[in-house]
Amino acid sequence: MTRPEFEPWVREILRCPVGLHELVDVVDDEGRPALQCASDCGAPGRRLRYPVADGIPVLLVDDAVAVQV
Ligand SMILES: [Zn+2]
Repeated sequence: MTRPEFEPWVREILRCPVGLHELVDVVDDEGRPALQCASDCGAPGRRLRYPVADGIPVLLVDDAVAVQV
């Protein structure tokens, strides 16, 4: 399992800029930490995955990867 990357209060204020929902910790295909929409984002089963660069979440739509769950 992934280890928590952020303090709870940080987690509380992190939101997907597209759907404004919460984000969950995931690991991307290369094994790097990322944050992913906790709810469908824009379409059924569609989630955006945001990279975490050196411990800093990059919540930019242009840098997000859309994944299907
Ligand atoms: Zn989203």
